[in-house]
Amino acid sequence: MKQWNEECAVVGTYNVENSALISHYALFALQHRGQEASGISSSDGKNIHTIKGNGLVTKVFNEKNLKKLIGNASIGHNRYSTAGKESIDDAQPLFARYNLGEMAVVHNGNLTNALLLRKKLIEKGAIFQSYLDTENLIHLIAQNKKDNLQERIIDALKEIDGAYALIFLSRTKMFAIRDPYGLRPLCLGKITNSDGSVGYIVASESCAFDLVGAEYIREVNPGEMLVFEGLGDKIVTQPKSIQVFAPNPHPCIFEYVYFARPDSKVFGRNVYEVRKNMGVELAKEHKIKADMVIPVPDSGVAAALGYSKESGINFELGIIRNHYVGRTFIEPTQQMRELKVRLKLNPITEIIKDKEIIVIDDSVVRGTTSKQIVKILRQAGAKKVHLLISSPQTISPCYYGVDTPDTKELICANHSLEEVRDFIGADTLGFLSLEGLARSLKNKDHAFCQACFDKKYIDNYTKGLK
Ligand code: SF4
Repeated sequence: MKQWNEECAVVGTYNVENSALISHYALFALQHRGQEASGISSSDGKNIHTIKGNGLVTKVFNEKNLKKLIGNASIGHNRYSTAGKESIDDAQPLFARYNLGEMAVVHNGNLTNALLLRKKLIEKGAIFQSYLDTENLIHLIAQNKKDNLQERIIDALKEIDGAYALIFLSRTKMFAIRDPYGLRPLCLGKITNSDGSVGYIVASESCAFDLVGAEYIREVNPGEMLVFEGLGDKIVTQPKSIQVFAPNPHPCIFEYVYFARPDSKVFGRNVYEVRKNMGVELAKEHKIKADMVIPVPDSGVAAALGYSKESGINFELGIIRNHYVGRTFIEPTQQMRELKVRLKLNPITEIIKDKEIIVIDDSVVRGTTSKQIVKILRQAGAKKVHLLISSPQTISPCYYGVDTPDTKELICANHSLEEVRDFIGADTLGFLSLEGLARSLKNKDHAFCQACFDKKYIDNYTKGLK
């Protein structure tokens, strides 16, 4: 229903018993980041085996096919289509045979110079099998003359720009890499096998570690490559760290606003805590008298708790979300749009009737969902509806792996605050300021990417876009 669509999950497990099964559970924990397709490649030291399919993790994998993914190393991916189309060719992992053997790769993010690269590679004779920007990397690696995959990956990375959290799997090694801006999250954890040996896991969010009993170690640093080796005949030691690029950290601030699970640690901070701080800052900036504060579930819950704590206004779960709604095939008529919101969100009339309400949501994209939410609250008898948003106004699209509408569809990019309020039909509409957002992060160490709020793009290809 939100028009921000998540931007893929990646996972890798190395020297882990039942590696594919563990990767599959990690993907299950990361299902919120992509529901279009799911896939896992495993290595038994001699061959790479891949299973992927369209749909949720539970649809793609079962006890029988997971048993085919043999070996102690595996990488996995949940896809939400950003670059590429919705065909199985564009599901990941991408697998390739080349002159050094076999490899598979998973990618979260978006390469901003992918089209330019693709054109150059096609002119040189490359034949692409998918629409994925990630396939550029496979060609760059295959065409490289160096005698090892690690150096070939590094050379290929020097050709690309944009956002990437990548995991490569060869027959015996695994490589995890984050772009120099650290736009997309990737963290490292440790798993103790039943024989006491140590294995490693990398994943987009730490909630994947909790499910499989892994211990969080740290983030993969911006511009860093972790090399996992020793599978098979050698002893697996800690991953080797190579700082391929000088870090220029600008992690995606929207991970905190909406994408990441609140029980995850991303970019070193717990998401729930940050969201709650956003609500506190929102309350400092927008002091409103009301009978209660209610969240738009689920992403507005932590911010609404923060708002309630700071303002002293009662928190109520005035809207209940139905978690079991899958895809809906609804015609875009007015009546049907309303049905779509009602399928997922239902207000509790007994709580809302005759009350003045502050509703907290995480963002406004086209404004149509907010309009429907305000409408159903009024239909439930709310006396006044004040809509407060725990992030600034979204005025520009994302080029870094998040599927966002064009600028012309972003309501706040094209209308004044009063016009947006009027369209949504709320009595009050307020947003958290950029300064308030920064305060809620309590971060002095580095900048964040917030280009969808301030248009300050950071990579060489989209920098300076207006
Ligand atoms: S533009 Fe917005 S959604 Fe995209 S990476 Fe930057 S902060 Fe995240």
